[in-house]
Amino acid sequence: MAKVLPKGPARVLAVSNQKGGVGKTTTAINLGTALAAIGERVLIVDMDPQGNASTGLGVPRETRRITIYDVIVDGRSVHDAAVPTAVPGLDIIPADADMSGVEIELSQADRRSYRLRDALAGQGQNGSAGYDPHPYDYVLIDCPPSLNLLTLNAMAAADGVLVPLQCEFFALEGLTQLMKTIEMVRQSLNPSLEIQGLVLTMYDRRNALSGQVAADVRAHFGEKVYEAVIPRNVRVSEAPSFGKPVLIYDLKCTGSQAYLRLAKEVVGRERRRLAA
Ligand code: ADP
Ligand code: MG
Repeated sequence: MAKVLPKGPARVLAVSNQKGGVGKTTTAINLGTALAAIGERVLIVDMDPQGNASTGLGVPRETRRITIYDVIVDGRSVHDAAVPTAVPGLDIIPADADMSGVEIELSQADRRSYRLRDALAGQGQNGSAGYDPHPYDYVLIDCPPSLNLLTLNAMAAADGVLVPLQCEFFALEGLTQLMKTIEMVRQSLNPSLEIQGLVLTMYDRRNALSGQVAADVRAHFGEKVYEAVIPRNVRVSEAPSFGKPVLIYDLKCTGSQAYLRLAKEVVGRERRRLAA
């Protein structure tokens, strides 16, 4: 029987890769949903000015009153900014285009790289009696496609980085830069940052190249690569236009099932880490 873990601070995972279109947002949304489906309490932090995670989880732009911008720049609390989604157990702090000015706004700010970390440290505070200091088990940060101050805030706040890699020819391109950035963050902002894992996305079993890329990535990164592979699946790409995670849109499809397997692996790695 699974051991019940004591409720402590959330495990914070930054979903990051400075390449665009590799499946970061899709993974944040659907891994978040899958974690919620297996009983974890999850917060998604949308750190991308494009706000795709917010849209994909059905939070329309006109309802995004308090955004991650307000948290990072103005010090609004996580409690105030988080809104529930249609998925039980899954909240999101939305983003909008405002975010594009953060870099300039924070250029002179105190602890400019720790704004998200500081906000998450007070995540349960709402001033009322009997508040829950640890309302989430997992926080997933959907990073923008660049290695800017927002991404640094994500990595400074994170326990682990989860790297989606698209199964195509240039999958490994830019990964050296990402690894250097993680190392730099470890040496300066956040010594305990780990790579939680690498997840292969948009795998096409009819395409020999997909298989080759997957084999190369496994040869290079070994056990850091999750066994769960996310297939290229049209249901996965259709779901966001309905403002739904694919697990809600079509639970039986191969994409949904793969994200459930990924969620179990993520939790398994976390349990092993806590037990160590
Ligand atoms: P990123 O956040 O890294 O830019 P996205 O998650 O937005 O990447 O994915 C890029 C595009 O690929 C989107 O149109 C998305 O719907 C599509 N996509 C992502 N994962 C899959 C998948 N497993 N199958 C099919 N399409 C996918
Ligand atoms: Mg994205």
